[in-house]
Amino acid sequence: MKAPEQFSPQQPRMVERVVEGVVTSDGAGVKLMRVLTGQLQRRLDPFLMLDAFGSDDPDDYIAGFPDHPHRGFETVTYMLSGRMRHRDSAGHEGLLESGGVQWMTAGRGVIHSELPEQQDGVMEGFQLWLNLPAGRKLCDPWYKDFPTEVIPEYVTSGGVTVRVIAGRSNGVVGVLEREVTEPLYLDVHMPAGAVFSTALPETHNAFIYAYRGAVAVGGTRLAAQRMAILANAAGADGVTLQAAEDARLILVAGKPLNEPIVQYGPFVMNTQQEIHQALDDFRHGRLV
Ligand code: MN
Repeated sequence: MKAPEQFSPQQPRMVERVVEGVVTSDGAGVKLMRVLTGQLQRRLDPFLMLDAFGSDDPDDYIAGFPDHPHRGFETVTYMLSGRMRHRDSAGHEGLLESGGVQWMTAGRGVIHSELPEQQDGVMEGFQLWLNLPAGRKLCDPWYKDFPTEVIPEYVTSGGVTVRVIAGRSNGVVGVLEREVTEPLYLDVHMPAGAVFSTALPETHNAFIYAYRGAVAVGGTRLAAQRMAILANAAGADGVTLQAAEDARLILVAGKPLNEPIVQYGPFVMNTQQEIHQALDDFRHGRLV
């Protein structure tokens, strides 16, 4: 695709806070870094969680995520490297491969498994949880795999490669757009010395996670494996990033729902009563 004209923010966002992730394990012992933790759900509404996984040691990922339920939100899995097989109770099955995205709307409920389909090599990627508005939490489950070749990509005149997973950036529309939360999800590859800008709606909550190399955002240096929460300032119209070295990052933004968030493990609802209902439905086989 030819280089689009880059948006030039009049008032670029500043960094409010740099966050270090928490090393943890989930599923059947998959080692990962929880970048967006429960404490940040309110601040980064509509996003509920971001996990970064990356290892070339099969012991860190091989057991994967056997059958488990979800209700009330969407999961977006972006695989940088590796192969993961998905199967769910709605009858969907797919193989997520390097560069591909899997978008799943759990809605009223799915039980699924996410299992590595490799015995060795590097497994690296992200899983982002995107909340659903109250009126959509019990919608029908939905699922789609987007292989790497269908993900829109553009290269700026400065050599920055931008993969548009969700939303739109510099006129390029991603594989998915969502009403209400209007998520933007970009994977940005910057060569040393490059500058990259994109528009961001003023009211969106936004963050950047640098997964290779360091970038500068509004005068703040963001080291690799760190998340920068971007400040929400009146009149801010975009973000500008500078790379002193080769760097790769994801930029994620969305419109807050401003609704109560009650999470119990893989269920995210608006009230405690709805969580009790989800548990009861799960225990009695009524979740799906
Ligand atoms: Mn899952």
